[in-house]
Amino acid sequence: MRITWLGHSAFQIVTDKDLHILIDPFLTENPSCPCSLDQIQADVICITHGHNDHFGDSLELARRDGSLVICIHELAKYLECQDIEAVGMNMGGTVEANGIRVTMVNSNHSSDLDFLEGMDPGGSSCGYILELEDGMKIYHSGDTGIFGDMKTVIRDIYRPHLALLPIGDRFTMGPPEAKIAVGWLDVDVVIPMHYNTFPVIEQDPQGFKVDVESSTGAKVVVLEPGETYQE
Ligand code: ZN
Repeated sequence: MRITWLGHSAFQIVTDKDLHILIDPFLTENPSCPCSLDQIQADVICITHGHNDHFGDSLELARRDGSLVICIHELAKYLECQDIEAVGMNMGGTVEANGIRVTMVNSNHSSDLDFLEGMDPGGSSCGYILELEDGMKIYHSGDTGIFGDMKTVIRDIYRPHLALLPIGDRFTMGPPEAKIAVGWLDVDVVIPMHYNTFPVIEQDPQGFKVDVESSTGAKVVVLEPGETYQE
């Protein structure tokens, strides 16, 4: 499995069977994204919520690649109005597609389609547990504050190996809360996200790494945008 950070909350995961999964593909308007849409392949797209810095280029990519788009019911309805066939789901549900299992879990955040002129709530925000073909489980929390399900539902039931967690503060949890979340989740590997895209979410990921690794058993992998972690 190879996971590449595309800046902000956007990741591309390429599985051992060469399935290309994109999460929150905010690319063309993302000041920290190092690549263009041409360099990205999207077999599956998972969207955590309708805010533009997460929904991003989902429409363009799905149209171009015929991607399987997974998102909450209300966002799926919006996509269907744009002639994109989406797999709508909701909290606690799992869909199996292309050899992987995708479970939608809570996040503690808001959601609306803020790139549209009118106010369209677009359902709740969410996180995902991705179970790859080999059984490895990756948790992408979406935008979220810390919440108790991380140490009960997400840790006890889904048992992810690797977590992608925001540390930017202001719109999500900041480093102190994210450190507690890592302990609650009891994951082996953490990749921080949703920081340093814009001045208001500036953080020191190396400081976060030292802090987390000295107080939990997790390894923190700090990626530069465009960089890949593999295992
Ligand atoms: Zn958001």
